[in-house]
Amino acid sequence: MRVLVTGGAGYVGSVVSALLLAEGHEVIVVDDLSTGHADAVPPGAVFHQMSVAALDPVLGDWDVDAVMHFAAKSLVGESVQEPAMYWRNNVVGTVALLDSMRAHGVPRIVFSSTAAVYGQAEQQPIEESAPTRPTNPYGATKLAVDMALTNYAQAYGMTAVSLRYFNVAGAYETADGLRFGERHAVETHLIPNALASAAGEGEAMSLFGTDYPTPDGTCVRDYIHVVDLAAAHVSALAAGEPGEHHILNLGSGSGSSVREVLSAVAAVTQRDVPVVEAPRRAGDPAVLVASHEQATRILGWRPQRDLEAMVSDAWQFFLASRA
Ligand code: UDP
Repeated sequence: MRVLVTGGAGYVGSVVSALLLAEGHEVIVVDDLSTGHADAVPPGAVFHQMSVAALDPVLGDWDVDAVMHFAAKSLVGESVQEPAMYWRNNVVGTVALLDSMRAHGVPRIVFSSTAAVYGQAEQQPIEESAPTRPTNPYGATKLAVDMALTNYAQAYGMTAVSLRYFNVAGAYETADGLRFGERHAVETHLIPNALASAAGEGEAMSLFGTDYPTPDGTCVRDYIHVVDLAAAHVSALAAGEPGEHHILNLGSGSGSSVREVLSAVAAVTQRDVPVVEAPRRAGDPAVLVASHEQATRILGWRPQRDLEAMVSDAWQFFLASRA
């Protein structure tokens, strides 16, 4: 297939692009590099530095079979401060993309959604039928697009798949030894912060909250390897029928506490991980674990890589990016 990947210079978009190429697909990446990195676009992909908003005049010429849409603003804290930017980029921009797809006859979209649409879920593991009550504008904008996709698929006969990610971690190494991983200018995620702390970069890492109602008092999350996640995207290209919108959670189905992640980081790096215990971070639910039964049913997908593999691959990427 010929696939347009928006946001293909970002973390998940770059890994998915590399995997698509490895599996013989043609890839066109569009990214405005507002948060992505030009050198994260895998060789073999055609790259256009442009925003999603500028796509309409050119989309018809590219004759793509599907769009994988990753381009988005994705910082929870920033979304609370600047919701207008999130609604404009993530929702207005995506509706314009969908209208361009309709105008140019592009029949299929795979959308990068998030577990943040569920907010503080009452039941674990979280199924796709759980109530959607996002607790921040980032989650709200992703939910808005999920809803638009249901309507567009039904009314205009598109085939749509929304993939709701839980906590993505790890990195991908191609057969040629190229590595694609997580490199955010503002890093808020646990595993990269713990690796930086183990490497002695900056201050000791803050552990946010030790008084949660969990076995060791720290938050429990469902970590999923970016390569497993990317494999689900490739499968999603062949899933569903015109008029259908599938919404699928992508998680491992089991949880790890912050302390368990820190132990894995210490074991993999063979270093101390300097940590300061800090108050809870606003908006963090105690436990988030996915049910991925739907993804297994619709995509035949099962995650294959465990927490140690995620931390180990993230560490190799971290070391390579500092070399
Ligand atoms: N966390 C932490 N210190 C950090 C970053 C994260 O203690 O520097 C905790 C955070 O409070 C949450 C878990 O690690 O309980 C996962 O956070 P992350 O930001 O990686 O993902 P989220 O679950 O918020 O999407």
